[in-house]
Amino acid sequence: MNENLHIQREVDDKPGEECGVFGIYDFDGNDIAQTIYYGLFALQHRGQESCGIAVSDTEGPKGKVDSCKGMGLVNEVFDAEKLENLHGNIGVGHVRYSTAGASTRENAQPLVLNYIKGTLALAHNGNLINAPQLREELAYGGAIFQTTIDSEVIAYHIARERVRSKTAEEAVARAMQKIKGAYSLVIMSPRKLMGARDPQGFRPLCIGKRGNAYVLASETCALDTIGAEFVRDVLPGEIVTITQEGIKSDTRLCQKQQTAHCVFEYIYFARPDSVIDGVSVYHSRLMAGRYLAMDSPVDADIVVGVPESGNAAALGYSLQSGIPYGTAFVKNGYVGRTFIKPKQSSRESSVRVKLNVLREAVEGKRVIMIDDSIVRGTTSDRIVHMLREAGAKEVHMRVSSPPFLWPCYFGTDVPAREQLIAYNRTVEEIRQVIGADSLGYLDCSRLRQMAGDLPICTGCFTGNYPLDPPMEDIRGEFEQ
Ligand code: SF4
Repeated sequence: MNENLHIQREVDDKPGEECGVFGIYDFDGNDIAQTIYYGLFALQHRGQESCGIAVSDTEGPKGKVDSCKGMGLVNEVFDAEKLENLHGNIGVGHVRYSTAGASTRENAQPLVLNYIKGTLALAHNGNLINAPQLREELAYGGAIFQTTIDSEVIAYHIARERVRSKTAEEAVARAMQKIKGAYSLVIMSPRKLMGARDPQGFRPLCIGKRGNAYVLASETCALDTIGAEFVRDVLPGEIVTITQEGIKSDTRLCQKQQTAHCVFEYIYFARPDSVIDGVSVYHSRLMAGRYLAMDSPVDADIVVGVPESGNAAALGYSLQSGIPYGTAFVKNGYVGRTFIKPKQSSRESSVRVKLNVLREAVEGKRVIMIDDSIVRGTTSDRIVHMLREAGAKEVHMRVSSPPFLWPCYFGTDVPAREQLIAYNRTVEEIRQVIGADSLGYLDCSRLRQMAGDLPICTGCFTGNYPLDPPMEDIRGEFEQ
């Protein structure tokens, strides 16, 4: 992974989301590259390493795809001139954070594939659990891979199936019977825009409409940003195909009993202004805070959130407990990819550069501090210490998720067990490590409640994965 991003993850002590995807088909024939740019901008929180846009003209030559991708944030990779050079009324876009596959330009998406039936552009969010086997199978069949990401395995499978299928959507359906794991896909073939979601529905994908254009996006916040109306979520296992004739749905692979939405989308990954599978992310965070107040009460003077993702849960805790909500931290939002980590010997600390305490708000007070998660525990102790230094009398930490105990294989980088602070430690031992006066986590039994009673994946908290995990950690396998 890019060293600076790695540093930033360490500063945040948060797991990374794999990616964000976006697609649009404008039936009126307008150029849509700029709209994709703004859609990706709204999805930037899902991936900051690389991004890309591929567009095509449905009235133009069939194999012609304009694409541009690069390393960096959306506004670093694209400028007005680059967008103006991307012509077409159908297109897909992608923001990436690597959990499988190296952080290189080749691995940036969308992947554009030229094959016998024309062109395919694909953007993928998630991780496959059987990618190495599928890759080997393709390699023995003569395939030459240009990337180390499992998205290419999906693209190859679709292309291969396309040769023996009547339609592109049929090829996607056939490929979906082989691939296992987490995938939300947005695919452009010369005259079609397709969206597909794995039968578990790990990662979100929704449909929107703006005038005479259909949109597919990882989150509804991207629809809001471009002024599109929300139509509905793509169902787990569903393939939607958008053509001039409108939108078609194939639900043959939908199996309701298998559904397992990633609960961590609600806890941390998704933007609070998004609604996923009918459940408001903001509301679910608020509820997590309320449950924490019910299950881990403590007497205090103020409740504060570790910004930004801890804020909604802190408000929920405050509403439930009646303890006033306050702001204790000022965050410097400009810690970007080029952030230079202070040397160990220097007096600056990464956390301090990013976060400062409002002394006035906490001095002489008993503080409840809410964070959404603790992964490795690299920052919590420092934040607790900062509050004490600013004069807090007591610091009680509450976490709006259960302890991470297992890795994730479905599109995030929740790491191996040995790296997790909660592995082999009791809550009391973790409390001692971070130096808080008390520590409480959200109980696992609350997870489904906070996600509006949706069937959810809780693998990284419980070890109960909705699909058998690989025997060993295959993330990053292809680099070896
Ligand atoms: S294991 Fe955790 S992070 Fe991964 S999909 Fe399941 S709930 Fe989400």
